[in-house]
Amino acid sequence: FQCVLLLNIKMEFKYPLPNNKLFINGEFVDSVVPGNKTFKTHNPVNGKVICEIVEGFPEDVDIAVKAARKALTGPWGQMSAEDRGKIMFKLADLIEEHIEQLSYFETLDNGKPLAASKGYDVASSYKCIRYFAGWADKIHGKTIPIDTSFTCFTRHEPIGVVGAITPWNFPVMILSWKLGPSLAAGCTIVAKQSEFTPLTSLYMCELIKKAGFPPGVFNLVNGFGHTVGNAISHHMDINKVSFTGSTRTGRLIMEAAAKSNLKKVTLELGGKSPNIVFKDVDVEFAATNARDGLFGNMGQSCCAGSRLYVQEDIYDAFMTTFTEKVKQLKVGDPWNSEHHQGPLVSKEQHDRVLSYIEKGKSEGATCHLGGARHGEEGYFVQPTIFTNCKEEMTIVKEEIFGPVICVLKFKTVEEVIERANKTSYGLAAGIYTKDLSLALNVSNQLQSGSVWINDYSRIHTQIPFGGYKESGIGKDLSEYAIYDYLSVKAVTISH
Ligand code: NAD
Repeated sequence: FQCVLLLNIKMEFKYPLPNNKLFINGEFVDSVVPGNKTFKTHNPVNGKVICEIVEGFPEDVDIAVKAARKALTGPWGQMSAEDRGKIMFKLADLIEEHIEQLSYFETLDNGKPLAASKGYDVASSYKCIRYFAGWADKIHGKTIPIDTSFTCFTRHEPIGVVGAITPWNFPVMILSWKLGPSLAAGCTIVAKQSEFTPLTSLYMCELIKKAGFPPGVFNLVNGFGHTVGNAISHHMDINKVSFTGSTRTGRLIMEAAAKSNLKKVTLELGGKSPNIVFKDVDVEFAATNARDGLFGNMGQSCCAGSRLYVQEDIYDAFMTTFTEKVKQLKVGDPWNSEHHQGPLVSKEQHDRVLSYIEKGKSEGATCHLGGARHGEEGYFVQPTIFTNCKEEMTIVKEEIFGPVICVLKFKTVEEVIERANKTSYGLAAGIYTKDLSLALNVSNQLQSGSVWINDYSRIHTQIPFGGYKESGIGKDLSEYAIYDYLSVKAVTISH
């Protein structure tokens, strides 16, 4: 709270802001494009400018790719896997040691509650880097005996230079999801953070420098999607793009990959995830989980359980408890530990979510709770529940990415499976029941990359995360992610 006061009155910060420049070849540098252009990052609590950030351009991407290529064939590529792991462990330790600064900057330009920045986003970041650091010296191929005259072995080699393009909803955490497996696999990186939330990525550069990575292993060119992002995805010397963001941008990246050098892609995209509550549940427990599965991170989560299916037998009882639980969410200043929900990230996102709410009302859904902005200043939106929703409504079909949940009633198991799968997305799903065989039967039939049973949104570094259908290609996290950053070479020996 004090920080917000300071921001409003004196524009002073609790910690010195990170260096605002591009980070290329181990140094903070200006763009090579004349004009010293910058873009602004805003505080979503009040819409005020926090600071100016040096804007990168395709020419800077080019220089960063050259530095990344040089590091790949040079010091990083020649370093033993054990030593690479050591530097990664050091980075994990530094992130943990600087948790206060990182969470402060995460809340400053993203607006999420400070407790969440600290306890979830930054904590997940160092755990992720530490997990993958442990993998660095455990990546190896196989020997494949053919017959008495041939033997084959496989080598797992780094895929090369990776372009990492990341969104604003979990800025430091998702950046770490890209860094961990790339670095463990021995790749080098040219990253671009969302223009809405550049602060923690810039602070990470300072930690990367301190950890002792050779210059060029990690480069950051902040800027806009249509310039920097577009240059990364079209670049002829980038071997892979690892992207998290909207399905719309994912398509553009895949198209660019196809039109350029057929670079590989990992795409972690949008979702419209079903959360299914069967009649035998503990209503109190399921209502709390379903609430947190959507309203956590103000609904700005790719796996948010935004379609809540409730079996008709318990619908009324469930809705009474669920509504009470949602009413308990306190919206306000993210620096205040009593608040569960801060502002949405930007004016664009705020206006977009409000326009979905209006669309829901005009298409005939019942706005059961909320349904408007919260307060006079900043980008706050009330936690909103829509009932009487129908599958064909826009709010049920499209990703809203805000604190808006659509509740739908269902009768039978077969019916709910069919309705849950009736979406072009396939990122995540939740099931609440005490009947384990029902849960497993339903989970087998859901077309979704993650299924949580009697839980929602629990993401662990050790567990793969990534979507089916139009929610993406490839996996973040876990051993599975590492293989997405490796090329497998088969060497066959005749003897
Ligand atoms: P976005 O697609 O607008 O932007 C993501 C990143 O792509 C940003 O850095 C942006 O600058 C860049 N970009 C924009 N246009 C580009 C272009 N033409 N070429 C290359 N890069 C470009 O997404 P967002 O609004 O930042 O994030 C919200 C979306 O991200 C939601 O759809 C959400 O579901 C999705 N998301 C998915 C996951 C997942 O793991 N599946 C996780 C978080 C967010």
